[in-house]
Amino acid sequence: MNSMEGKRGLIMGVANDRSIAWGIAKAMAGAGAELAFTYQGEAFGKRLSPLAESVGSDFMVDCDVTDDATLDRAFRELAERWPTIDFLVHAIAYSDKSELTGRFINTSRENFKNSMDISAYSFIDVARRAYPLMKEQGGTMLTLTYQGSNRVVPNYNVMGVAKAALEATTRYLANDLGPDGIRVNAISPGPMKTLAGAAIGGARKTYKHTEANAPLRSNATLEAVGGTAVWLASDAGAFTSGEVIHVDGGYHVLGMPQPENL
Ligand code: NAD
Repeated sequence: MNSMEGKRGLIMGVANDRSIAWGIAKAMAGAGAELAFTYQGEAFGKRLSPLAESVGSDFMVDCDVTDDATLDRAFRELAERWPTIDFLVHAIAYSDKSELTGRFINTSRENFKNSMDISAYSFIDVARRAYPLMKEQGGTMLTLTYQGSNRVVPNYNVMGVAKAALEATTRYLANDLGPDGIRVNAISPGPMKTLAGAAIGGARKTYKHTEANAPLRSNATLEAVGGTAVWLASDAGAFTSGEVIHVDGGYHVLGMPQPENL
């Protein structure tokens, strides 16, 4: 039997077929799950439509995490369609591109607040809204982070601070929701070629550097991240909560680049 057979979940954050959320959606559907999607605005909705259809889903709701009215509507429509869900995937982050390059010290108050709101607070917000749909039978909540949260990655800047907040959020949510059988985890992939990834200054160099130095000598793939999400959301991951799981070819264990790259 497929490991996600009979399970239903909401995927937030598919922008296109290179999105990490899409890698997770494909893996979840491949393992037998039924999926609902949120997307940010009409243009992304048009791109999502054929993708959702290809995994047998006709359930898509427009939702901007900075707009309470759209969040209210999305979760109301979800609850009308499905009285319970088994998993939630939060794959959403944003910072003004102009501050994802250069010196961190130049971070503006406005972009700091906005980046924290969209990239960290929104996980608390959607977790609170998804909770009533999970509390009877338990479930899994997943978010996406990056190791710029605890190591300095040039140009990652304010997003590193937002990811540190997101990882702490993961631990606090795991503790709050654990008594209801709800597990909360973060997946931390290495650099991937997505819209959000491309917004970070020097993205191409970071990508090449990780590929050349990670113990597995490659970058993360959508399939690798999707497989990890399936493991965490399935019964196989039944006792893992509050974790940050790296899917980065082992890059995070390094203290320095490989000798051939020095
Ligand atoms: P992506 O651009 O495909 O996805 C980012 C998503 O965030 C988009 O779907 C966008 O619509 C959504 N979003 C942004 N602001 C929003 C808002 N106000 N309301 C609703 N949705 C909003 O890029 P991705 O790389 O797949 O990013 C998904 C997650 O993975 C992000 O949290 C990102 O930080 C994380 N991540 C990415 C990498 C990488 O290298 N690409 C590595 C580690 C972690």
